[in-house]
Amino acid sequence: MTRRDAAKAPADAPTTGRFAPSPTGLLHLGHAYSALLAHDSRRAEGGRFLLRLEDIDPQRCRPEFETAILEDLTWLGVRWDATPRRQSEHWADYRAALARLDEAGLLYRCFCTRSEIAAEVARSPSAPHGPEGAPYPGLCKRLDPAEVADRLAKGDAYALRLDTAKALARCGPLVWHDAEAGAVVARPDLFGDVVLARKDTPTSYHLAVTVDDALQQITHVVRGRDLFEATHVHRLLQALLALPSPLYRHHALLKGADGKRYAKRDRSLTLASLRATGETPATLRQRIGLPAV
Ligand code: GLU
Repeated sequence: MTRRDAAKAPADAPTTGRFAPSPTGLLHLGHAYSALLAHDSRRAEGGRFLLRLEDIDPQRCRPEFETAILEDLTWLGVRWDATPRRQSEHWADYRAALARLDEAGLLYRCFCTRSEIAAEVARSPSAPHGPEGAPYPGLCKRLDPAEVADRLAKGDAYALRLDTAKALARCGPLVWHDAEAGAVVARPDLFGDVVLARKDTPTSYHLAVTVDDALQQITHVVRGRDLFEATHVHRLLQALLALPSPLYRHHALLKGADGKRYAKRDRSLTLASLRATGETPATLRQRIGLPAV
């Protein structure tokens, strides 16, 4: 498929955008930029806008961050059209997607620890690195079924990985569409066999974001340039699960005066602290180069 599915919708069908923060810290200027770009672009076209809380990581997500995110977005002037979707309330959706991929023979169980993977990667340092570092070296792909059964019987924890080469062979070449980059040939092979369900959580970012964008009928995804490559994986999952592919826009990341991108660790530039020192939504828009409303 070479044309984006969003383009096949009737011309007057409503478009839908979203902002999908992870409640692992306070929002900073970079998040405000991303949220406002996504929100304003949909509203300018009379489209819908949704919020999704990507709280699959039980170690790092906290309810107080979620409360602060909702407060900050409301202060910014971002409005959403339905109750926010909280990923931790929808494990069944991700399990259903995993079951389909598993039935299609595209997943395998991976019992490796991080240190086992690191040691194996260190043994072949010349292997090419992908966008998320060294791709998984395939240890558990080669396990024989009897050993897998044995480890499952022992109750060993495992992640589920996608057999990316097999998946790509089934789908053939894939393209996704970016408002700035145009038609992009998907290269999920650069990531190797990505994790689709973690040992501690029955999904992963890649799976949850793909399933949710489809369930929330998102037609336009606006997010930071740091997620550009991840879209290669999302496009493959869309093809495997027969889901539509939204139109993407990966915006440049805002940088501070020191030339570094904003991150959750920059406490002074959280929206909460800026607000406390007299920033208004209007001065904030000016500061990040967005037009006044
Ligand atoms: N939850 C991701 C983050 O906070 C964003 C996911 C997305 O926009 O696709 O970085």
